[in-house]
Amino acid sequence: MATGNINVAVENIFPLIKKFLYSDHEIFLRELISNATDATLKLKHLTNMGEAKVEYGNPYIEIKVDKEGKKLHIIDQGLGMTEDEVQKYINEVAFSGAEEFLDKYKDKVDDAGIIGHFGLGFYSAFMVAEKVEIITKSFKDEPAAHWTCDGSPQYTLETTDKKDRGTEIILHIAEDSTEFLEDARITTLLNKYNKFMPIPIKFGMKTETLPKPEDAKEEDPAPTQEVDNIINNPNPAWTKQPADLKEEDYKSFYRELYPMQFEEPLFNIHLNVDYPFNLTGILYFPKLGNDMNIQKDRIQLYQNQVFVTDNVEGIVPEFLTMLRGVIDSPDIPLNVSRSYLQADGAVKKISSYITRKVADKLNSLFKNNREDFEQKWNDIKVVIEYGMLSEEKFFEKADKFALYPTVDGNYFTFEELQEKIKDAQTDKDGKTVILYASNKDEQHQYIEAAKAKGYEVLLLDSPIVSHLLQKLETSKENISFARVDADHVDNLIKKDETVISKLSDEEKDKVKGLVEEVVAKETYTVQVEAMDSEAAPFIITQPEFMRRMKEMQQT
Ligand code: ADP
Ligand code: MG
Repeated sequence: MATGNINVAVENIFPLIKKFLYSDHEIFLRELISNATDATLKLKHLTNMGEAKVEYGNPYIEIKVDKEGKKLHIIDQGLGMTEDEVQKYINEVAFSGAEEFLDKYKDKVDDAGIIGHFGLGFYSAFMVAEKVEIITKSFKDEPAAHWTCDGSPQYTLETTDKKDRGTEIILHIAEDSTEFLEDARITTLLNKYNKFMPIPIKFGMKTETLPKPEDAKEEDPAPTQEVDNIINNPNPAWTKQPADLKEEDYKSFYRELYPMQFEEPLFNIHLNVDYPFNLTGILYFPKLGNDMNIQKDRIQLYQNQVFVTDNVEGIVPEFLTMLRGVIDSPDIPLNVSRSYLQADGAVKKISSYITRKVADKLNSLFKNNREDFEQKWNDIKVVIEYGMLSEEKFFEKADKFALYPTVDGNYFTFEELQEKIKDAQTDKDGKTVILYASNKDEQHQYIEAAKAKGYEVLLLDSPIVSHLLQKLETSKENISFARVDADHVDNLIKKDETVISKLSDEEKDKVKGLVEEVVAKETYTVQVEAMDSEAAPFIITQPEFMRRMKEMQQT
């Protein structure tokens, strides 16, 4: 019998990382800039606490492309590493210095804003580089270190003479990844992932136009100067306190988020909570009208100001994915599948917090300026109606501010409406029948007929209205909806007045027969009698249930 050790080929870990760690190779830059940001923030915390006795200054991160040398440099002025620390943090794959830092200082720094936590981010560099160098000088009084690795498990580590504090990562870009030596590609990546990171990121220079001097002539060109091209806004609006922001600040942040969007948002909701989970963000209501097919995925998800994704499915309730804006939370687990996300306790709480904040904001808009709210109704109703259909909690809140406009341009809440019409529109079984039209022009005659009888007619034209009515009918007692061209409009109470028809019985039968020849008798009802409106000698109706069934099959 033979025994022995299975030889675990450690060589194989790099190809694995390269292939499976992240499906998206481009995120290596996000990871390395996150590390540079962490290193800078750590130094900030340490100097604040007096543990590092160095000048913090105004550190920034610099990205440099060396196209000829096929190298990409990421340079920071953070806390740096000693040789021992390189051994510990870099050579031990999956040992996270970020996690260790947070553990060590958890009582001293709240909201440290540290990004890293898996201890794998650094190795994503090997997805695009055939060789990686680290040249790093700690803030501690120790010599700088130079680490080199070509993607095999062998590395070299030696002392070097770097003088300034901080770390430079040099990627020798692999043959299959030369796209990352293009300025345009790097600019795109920086704008996508790093636009709102907390430490300034410099990428090359740019030309800035200065104001013309007083005595300049008309034809003189404005003077210019070369300045650092800082690609990010380190203090985006959502990281500030609502009290420190004005309406205009919210609007300009919207333009920053969506530079191609020219329409202004209707209003915004500032999210800001740190217990029992951490979440900040700003949501915007865009003008939606009846359009439910607007491009979703407009809400961007960040973690500590690092862009993660613009697919917030499973994190934000579906009806709110029609909104725009940003949410930032370190508490959303992202290394799990979407279906698992929906079951996650923290995520559930976040989702219901967002729903509640949106409902509260709408409620306060309604209460504080009803006229304005009515004016916006048409542009926000699809979100509210969809929310009422899909989230019971939202329904309960929205029931107080959801509006029901009439064809004459008045707006009622459900309660107001019920109060207004119950005397005139309650049938003999005690059911209040709410009449509505879905198209003012097409249903004009029916609307006029109903109004002539003194009935209120709502104008409900959103694409999901039939579902909403169904929902209201089941949640409220003794009400039902009927479209104004439905059969039982005429069976509403006010039965006392008798209308004297101008036609004899035979004439009526004849007209009825003629009309029925051209419409489908099974689907429509033709009435010739009791049409007191001069404009409508006969009327064609369709039973409400039949019409609604058809409609619901369509949506
Ligand atoms: P994580 O960021 O999740 O901790 P990484 O693999 O990205 O894991 O990095 C591992 C560790 O290497 C970091 O925690 C940090 O201690 C160290 N490190 C990486 N980049 C830098 C840097 N630019 N400056 C200082 N330390 C760094
Ligand atoms: Mg990291």
